[in-house]
Amino acid sequence: MAREFSLKDTRNIGIMAHIDAGKTTTTERILFYSGRVHKIGEVHEGAATMDWMEQEQERGITITSAATTAQWNDHRINIIDTPGHVDFTVEVERSLRVLDGAVGVFCAKGGVEPQSETVWRQADTYHVPRIAYVNKMDIIGADFLGAVGQMRDRLKANAVPVQLPIGKEDTFEGIIDLIKNEAYYYLDDLGTTTEARDIPDEYKEQAEEYRTHMIESIAELDEELMEKYLEGEETTEEELKAALRKGVCDVQIIPVFCGSSYKNKGVQPMLDAVVDYMPSPLDVPAIQGELPDGSEVSRESDDNQPFAALAFKIMTDPYVGKLTFFRVYSGTLDSGSYVLNSTKEKRERVGRILQMHANSRQEIKTVYAGDIAAAVGLKDTGTGDTLCDEKNPIILESMVFPEPVINVAIEPKTKSDQDKMGIALAKLAEEDPTFRTETDEETGQTIIKGMGELHLDIIVDRLKREFKVDANVGQPQVAYRETFRNGAKVEGKFVRQSGGRGQYGHVWVEFEPMDAGGGFEFVNKIVGGVVPKEYIPAVQ
Ligand code: GDP
Repeated sequence: MAREFSLKDTRNIGIMAHIDAGKTTTTERILFYSGRVHKIGEVHEGAATMDWMEQEQERGITITSAATTAQWNDHRINIIDTPGHVDFTVEVERSLRVLDGAVGVFCAKGGVEPQSETVWRQADTYHVPRIAYVNKMDIIGADFLGAVGQMRDRLKANAVPVQLPIGKEDTFEGIIDLIKNEAYYYLDDLGTTTEARDIPDEYKEQAEEYRTHMIESIAELDEELMEKYLEGEETTEEELKAALRKGVCDVQIIPVFCGSSYKNKGVQPMLDAVVDYMPSPLDVPAIQGELPDGSEVSRESDDNQPFAALAFKIMTDPYVGKLTFFRVYSGTLDSGSYVLNSTKEKRERVGRILQMHANSRQEIKTVYAGDIAAAVGLKDTGTGDTLCDEKNPIILESMVFPEPVINVAIEPKTKSDQDKMGIALAKLAEEDPTFRTETDEETGQTIIKGMGELHLDIIVDRLKREFKVDANVGQPQVAYRETFRNGAKVEGKFVRQSGGRGQYGHVWVEFEPMDAGGGFEFVNKIVGGVVPKEYIPAVQ
């Protein structure tokens, strides 16, 4: 079977958001408009939802990092789930590792929240091209330009509005497209009927001001356009779009869009923007890898090169068992063939290859360079492993997983619980490289280790629900770390003091006072974000 979509028409994107900004709702609407889901809300009812785990829905946070395939304007869009909670930093990192671009979803009222900062900075570190979408324009207190201002001030992002909302709160009724210089009104509740109109009189001045600002910001990134602009020539829509696309792909500019996903407004233009401005696998630098002799090579996204892929997520699926999500960087892979797991030096057979859609899974024969899919049947492959052509071994740049920082003792209630727990813990550790277990030498107790209290809460929860293990759980203990990955020495520590949202559960970094009353700011960039003072009991 030939390629369904050319590489040029493929987008691998993540949706990054602070909890509650509307990532789930936005993703749901994307899947609705991209035609695979036929009823809004259905995504919550089907077997293949973005939020796989029960407790995830209960807690209202997104933990897992699956990938869903959608179509828009003759493009394939693979949406890689990117968690919003800081306890899942590693999950964020691994999703950032395999995506080519991201949509940052912000709440029109909350703007830039501490956790959006954390994820944003990680994306900065990985040089991820981004667009921003200011959601919830319909809620009381919605402030589009305020949110843009926060992106500029707090995220130091070159955030430039390319749309303006018409109305807000319960009068949010349309969007001004500054590139086309036109207004769009939404005429029905599903957002499927829109009408292009002239920009309303009361918005003319504001639209003019922001359009000029947008053109100047785009022209700054493109010499030819700048010359034209300075000579007072009119720039065309195509020129603006081309220069903006280049600026986004080079991570020089963040175009900002607006909408209300819940009210079905603004999602389609944002999807158009994903196609127009987000990079295809051909627009991102080739991945680096190492050959068996230690020499370094790069692999372009190209079907004709030998197969190389990175496994980025292991999940246990109730229907098919272990699923290994992978991103193909070069070459192609057929179902039923053998691959080399070069990280573990093991030969593995790939059974079926699946692509997940919103409410269905599609079995595919061949997966091509630049695409994302899930393999059934890989036994030994873990997160971060390279899968490659047996005759052309290569190890791709992998992900770095930090050591766990918090421990909890866990005691099964009965012998049968003990047996079940052994199996369960092995499985959980296989899925999650930041989760470890060990036996305390003195007490013989089982100790589980993770990245934060919430991380371990979820593990305990899964032990109970999924694996039916009844156990007593001890108090969390903070583990000590000598150094961090970039060599920064530990100067102090903080632990979460109370429950609730917005906590910083783990992280040992150097920090210094930010200002008299304002708490502390990380000095190094490992996690970033501002730590609320109550979470820092002592500086050692
Ligand atoms: P997530 O935590 O980022 O995945 O956020 P959700 O998509 O679950 O949204 C959090 C809450 O905000 C839910 O109750 C949504 O119904 C609501 N929500 C999401 N988008 C909008 C929006 O555009 N307008 C309004 N009024 N509510 C929204």
